[in-house]
Amino acid sequence: MHVHDRAARELMDLVFAFTAERMAMDPPPLDFSVAPDVLAAQAGQTITPEGLGGAEVMRLFEEVLGPACLSIDHPRYLSFIPAAPTEAATLFDLIVSATSIYGAVYAENQTLRWLADLAGLPPEAGGTFVSGGSIANLSALAVARTVWRDADPAREARRPIVLLSEAAHSSNASALALLDLRDLPVEVDDSDRMTAETVRAAVEGLTPDQRADICAVVATAGLTNTGTIDDLVAAGAAAAELGAWFHVDGAYGAAALCSSTRRDRFAGIDRADSLTVDPHKWLFAPYDCAAILYRDPRLARRTFTQHASYLDVLTDTDDWSPSDYAPHLTRRARGLPTWFSLAVHGTDAYRDAVDTTIATTEAGADLIRSLDHLELVTEPELSVLVFRRIGWSREDYAAWSDRLLADQVGFVVPTSWRGETVLRFCITNPRTTLDDLRACLPD
Ligand SMILES: *Cc1c(COP(=O)(O)O)cnc(C)c1O
Repeated sequence: MHVHDRAARELMDLVFAFTAERMAMDPPPLDFSVAPDVLAAQAGQTITPEGLGGAEVMRLFEEVLGPACLSIDHPRYLSFIPAAPTEAATLFDLIVSATSIYGAVYAENQTLRWLADLAGLPPEAGGTFVSGGSIANLSALAVARTVWRDADPAREARRPIVLLSEAAHSSNASALALLDLRDLPVEVDDSDRMTAETVRAAVEGLTPDQRADICAVVATAGLTNTGTIDDLVAAGAAAAELGAWFHVDGAYGAAALCSSTRRDRFAGIDRADSLTVDPHKWLFAPYDCAAILYRDPRLARRTFTQHASYLDVLTDTDDWSPSDYAPHLTRRARGLPTWFSLAVHGTDAYRDAVDTTIATTEAGADLIRSLDHLELVTEPELSVLVFRRIGWSREDYAAWSDRLLADQVGFVVPTSWRGETVLRFCITNPRTTLDDLRACLPD
């Protein structure tokens, strides 16, 4: 197929028209998820020997399949971590495909450099973009394991241990399982924070055998459920004392390094051996885009570079290859939409956008404090609000949440806090206003 074909040109018009219309919607429809049997009845078999043709498949997408997906960029989509890509980033995502770009190292690396500078990592720091924070955390822990094993041949047969907060994101436990690492949980305080005290208690509780087997300490800069930031100074100092790798999972929260009000909360992040930051969460990039940064990228290269006769022309040079810093080879240049948007808007606009979401969160917290039937469960640290509706049971929350979506007001699903069902807003979309939050509060 080629654009000189009439059919391909028509398809291009349809796709561009749809894209322009969807991007101009303010807000887009929230929509519902639709059960597979309903979709089967409405869309039928879409993949056929002859093909249905561009117009018909676009119609199916516009009328049936698209509306069966929730709009994660809707300003009242407040659950999980909402998406809020800039138009610049979304549009450039089209170009990444249209140009079949593979390298783009210079532009991607300037983006990584901006993140590394925000975190205070040294000039030689670097890394790559992967599909999500889960793969970024997996990559970091794989390097930590390699570094630990390579330090002493006697370690070859041992299963190293990672010190990990009880409240850490599930992707860390998943990475530990995949890498066959053991975990040693670190307790947290009332707001799920790993503190200097809980880190110290964990280190002092180690047996000599355990101490010898610690390969990494993982801290979180912005817990998914509450936005809480661990004591990164204490976690980094513990890693140094144990001779272990220090990984900071900032998939959601490290974006606030560019804010004008929250930088001080990240003290100690500059000691990280590796850092995860997801631009697709709070840095206005479309899916999928997560950065993994290493203080010393050579260690990652040792872990991941693939060797084969057909790759020698790539690996025998000193050129920087993004494929060397995670378990991947062929990759989408997925850092480019973020780069384009940063280059277009400038970093001040990013600071302002993150500041806006934090200000909206603070105003939302004040609103909740002012209402007798609602109560904050934790003090907001970044852009997450966790609160209870006094007197409600789990069923009340579920029924209310279902109704909110059915009425197309907003998408707010309950979460849990110490076993209790509660509500949670996560505000990463600068278009979300205090009025949006107000509309999504239970009576
Ligand atoms: C979202 C999140 C992850 C996982 O990132 P994905 O991009 O969803 O794979 C890891 N850690 C934290 C703290 C997160 O918030």
